[in-house]
Amino acid sequence: MILYNSLGQTKQEFIPHTAGKVNMYTCGPTVYHYAHIGNLRTYIMEDVLEKYLRFSGYDVNRVMNITDVGHLSSDADTGEDKMVAGAKREHKTVLEIAEFYTDAFFADCKKLNIKRPDVVEPATNCIDDFINMISVLLEKGFAYIAGGNVYFDTSKLDSYYVFGNMNEEDLAVGVRDSVEEDENKKNKADFVLWFTKSKFDSQELKWNSPWGVGYPGWHIECSCISCKHNGEYLDIHCGGIDNAFPHHTNEIAQSEAFLGHKWCGYWFHVLHLNDARGKMSKSKGDFLTVSLLESKSYDPLVYRMFCLQSHYRKPLTFSYDSLDNTAKTYDKLIKRISVLSKDGVPDKEKAQPFINSFKEALDNDLNTSLGLTCVYDVLKADIDDATKLYVISEFDKVLSLDLTKGETSQKNCCDDEISAEVEELIKKRTEARANKDWATADAIRDKLKEMNVVIVDTKDGIKWHFEKHQT
Ligand code: AMP
Ligand code: ZN
Repeated sequence: MILYNSLGQTKQEFIPHTAGKVNMYTCGPTVYHYAHIGNLRTYIMEDVLEKYLRFSGYDVNRVMNITDVGHLSSDADTGEDKMVAGAKREHKTVLEIAEFYTDAFFADCKKLNIKRPDVVEPATNCIDDFINMISVLLEKGFAYIAGGNVYFDTSKLDSYYVFGNMNEEDLAVGVRDSVEEDENKKNKADFVLWFTKSKFDSQELKWNSPWGVGYPGWHIECSCISCKHNGEYLDIHCGGIDNAFPHHTNEIAQSEAFLGHKWCGYWFHVLHLNDARGKMSKSKGDFLTVSLLESKSYDPLVYRMFCLQSHYRKPLTFSYDSLDNTAKTYDKLIKRISVLSKDGVPDKEKAQPFINSFKEALDNDLNTSLGLTCVYDVLKADIDDATKLYVISEFDKVLSLDLTKGETSQKNCCDDEISAEVEELIKKRTEARANKDWATADAIRDKLKEMNVVIVDTKDGIKWHFEKHQT
């Protein structure tokens, strides 16, 4: 498989550290609010990557953290603590907020067919691990204590800006919202590993540490949780592009200083979902959620398909018009698949070239839109329905669009709802023709065509059936 690697900023052949096995890490949500559909774009594309790796035969171990402590509203460890702000907003404790929004996050993931990672670890479960890693960093001379806090010393590294396109100016932009410059830092890029001197008096969650009562910085949790559950060598680290700097840059600094060797081979970053106002972000307040889409009668899987229609490395702009288009496309696709006959045995030999084309698309830096085109190629192909259904079910192991769901629901409702609707339309068309109302008759004929209904005039009257092979 060829993957774009932010480390090196090129497409590279994916070769895991241990043949056949993939250790994968995903930055999990900060649980102070609902996930917006921008966050979920990132998780959908990561889910496709995980499923495709499994589809390709890899044994995958995927780990995700839950940021339930220590995430400040500015990525440069300044500004307000998001969890504390969330608790204040809802008059709840930080842990109550964390539990509620963690559950809400996984409920959204379920609706979008995003598989739960193999390991999900809240940061508050791992305080001892953080303390251990920070102690080692101090022992090795990669960290220092100043003003009551422990800082990572970026000047001790051979190179810090590992993703290439980041520099001191970007960092300055990153901290532009900061209330005050942190004068304890030796270097501008240094960041906090452990806080004891917090400017937030309201910080609820604090733990004992060798450096005093306090709480961890944001970046340390991902380094620790990954090493804890994936071991010393990570194959793929995922996240939204906003996490590349400083979060992932700092994770690499900490992990490699701690381990004494290269840590993670491939960095998979998903570009942002934007709306008319720009990047969708939780801190903007009124953002789009899966529940909101549902309240407007969208199937959450329509949003999943919307994401799969474009490449993960391109920014994606959300609008209801484009989502409506996807909804129509999705409905039609499900209907087309639903009329395939289940009878017969799939011909695996005939299926193989279609599976190969699908693999070719996804092997090329996870080209999901081309992967979707493969579904249409199967529908158009001159192979029997059972083979078509088999191939489409295989694709759906990765796409997870419930492509064959119409198979049962459609068939069941064919007996009642849809049949009744078709019969009613045919009756109206017959009446319209009798009244020489050709416009109405034609409109009904078009509507029936759209529903893939074929009408046959027989000596016993009008008969109908669904069109089987469509091109
Ligand atoms: P957070 O809950 O803010 O920590 O973000 C969870 C994930 O969503 C991270 O991987 C972010 O990089 C990602 N993310 C944040 N905003 C967007 C967006 N507008 N589009 C896509 N991904 C995003
Ligand atoms: Zn992270």
